[in-house]
Amino acid sequence: MLKLISDRYIKPLLFLTFAAKFNNMSKQTFTMIKPDATGKGHTGAILDQIVKAGFSIKAMKWIKLTEEQAGLFYDIHRARPFFQELVDFMISGPIVAAVLEKDNAVADFRTLIGATNPAQADEGTIRKIFAASIGENAIHGSDSDENAIIEADFFFSKLERF
Ligand code: GDP
Repeated sequence: MLKLISDRYIKPLLFLTFAAKFNNMSKQTFTMIKPDATGKGHTGAILDQIVKAGFSIKAMKWIKLTEEQAGLFYDIHRARPFFQELVDFMISGPIVAAVLEKDNAVADFRTLIGATNPAQADEGTIRKIFAASIGENAIHGSDSDENAIIEADFFFSKLERF
């Protein structure tokens, strides 16, 4: 009898679990307010812009990365000429890491922060307003749903998300 119940319900349950996770994926992104912006006292203004754009904060922490952690986070750029400069910058001061939620979160957040190089960022974007250069560009935003999950998991346990 028990076996019958589990056979009958386990597949739909697994499907629903997967569907819920997939559905949540496209609604969440990950961000870091970088050391240039925290150091200049822009944290509050940037968070205000994020919340006013319709994102809700699902997890957040104020931390200083180690060299190893920064290198691991940006591992994909390890072969790039600016890698060490990027790591040195990311460990130069505290950051604010956060998981954000909104429909179409990844794409909408990339629009909100603007191009990697602030000189090419649209008016009104966070990087246009707060960033000084392509390296010291104030804020990070995940570039895909898959990376949003990987990056959020890098910083936050399940107990730290609400
Ligand atoms: P993002 O997705 O817009 O953050 O851009 P990328 O994934 O291409 O790069 C990751 C981060 O590396 C950027 O946000 C910058 O902080 C840094 N970066 C990218 N290109 C350069 C560069 O040419 N010089 C330096 N110093 N840093 C760079």
